[in-house]
Amino acid sequence: MATLDLLSINKSFGAAKVLHDISLAIEDKEFVVFVGPSGCGKSTLLRIIAGLEETTSGQIMIDGKDVSDAHPVDRGISMVFQSYALYPHLTVYENIAFPLRVQKMPQPEMDAAVNRAAEILQLTDKLQLKPGQLSGGQRQRVAIGRSIVRNPKVFLFDEPLSNLDAALRGDMRVELSQLHRSLEATMVYVTHDQVEAMTMADRIVVLNAGRVEQFGTPMELYHHPKTKFVASFIGQPN
Ligand code: ADP
Ligand code: MG
Repeated sequence: MATLDLLSINKSFGAAKVLHDISLAIEDKEFVVFVGPSGCGKSTLLRIIAGLEETTSGQIMIDGKDVSDAHPVDRGISMVFQSYALYPHLTVYENIAFPLRVQKMPQPEMDAAVNRAAEILQLTDKLQLKPGQLSGGQRQRVAIGRSIVRNPKVFLFDEPLSNLDAALRGDMRVELSQLHRSLEATMVYVTHDQVEAMTMADRIVVLNAGRVEQFGTPMELYHHPKTKFVASFIGQPN
């Protein structure tokens, strides 16, 4: 069970206001996509949820509990970074186990957690390889594995597929949707790609210049866009 509520989030960098009064109620097990043009504030909002960036004002609630002042590690949230965030000199096993080593988890428990993640991600026969010996898609799965072992309540993804080629990106969309179903976790996924948003999301948040234009299902956005921006961004010809 993991609901994620954002209450009136505002964020400024110096004199520049980049997020304006953002309130969202994300339901348990939902796959929500933040979509919008480059610079609209997607990454900043995700980093605020993760606790990697402070808000100027506003609250973040997980399961109804205020985590606004909680340390990133204590929020029950895990951010999946792009695959190039792997350690090239460590094996797949050690890359996945890394957060557990930091926590000083005992070896038998660690083995069990890494093996479970590897099974879900079909990496069982790759655990002793180095990232350089893997395909782009496999490397991305290792980065996801590193999040899974921490057993987070909420997964955050910031454009995880943007450095993959088009064919692989298509495959990984399907894999991530399957992962969402098998983990039954709440997921927030950031992209500037409308097609990715429309095909993957339970609900989409359309952001423009730090404001929420609309929050709804792909069908609602497509058939009932609330603003001209949503209509043109989602691609309805009117
Ligand atoms: P997106 O992920 O949608 O491309 P970002 O959240 O990265 O957008 O950026 C939103 C705005 O905030 C941009 O104008 C960007 O230049 C600005 N910004 C992001 N991070 C910082 C920072 N650390 N310091 C100053 N400005 C920043
Ligand atoms: Mg970004």
